[in-house]
Amino acid sequence: MMKNLISHNRNKIISYYIIIIEVFMKEKLYRFMYGRYGNDALNICLLVLYVLLSLLSKRNSIVSYVGFGLFIFALYRSMSKNIYKRRHENEMFLNLVKPFKPYINATKRNLTDKQRKYFVCPSCKQVIRVPRHRGRIEISCPTCRTHFERKS
Ligand SMILES: [Zn+2]
Repeated sequence: MMKNLISHNRNKIISYYIIIIEVFMKEKLYRFMYGRYGNDALNICLLVLYVLLSLLSKRNSIVSYVGFGLFIFALYRSMSKNIYKRRHENEMFLNLVKPFKPYINATKRNLTDKQRKYFVCPSCKQVIRVPRHRGRIEISCPTCRTHFERKS
């Protein structure tokens, strides 16, 4: 009975300690990250590439080191205090991926929407939605009136 009470209290004390440590660590992390850049689209892309490369490459291969390099670069960028420079890098990255954006968008929606299929207009790059499983169909772009054939 007495032993139980002591061990119960001990568990309580340990859980209080854990809460105090958590609060302390959060505060420390917050202070550490204060004035630092944090994450942006470029960093998320670097981290996704790192995960993909580490999943696809063999251990200790050059590709795995490249992936790790990208991870380190993302980490460095998020902790950097040169916010101006990091923002500029991110802007350059966003300009670079801009032409691919409609294709990324269409692919993303094709993966989630099982009822419709999404195509990018070859002329104006507008994303066009059509019903799935209709075989080869002629699509006319509602924006620029270009006609093109695709398998739905
Ligand atoms: Zn178009």
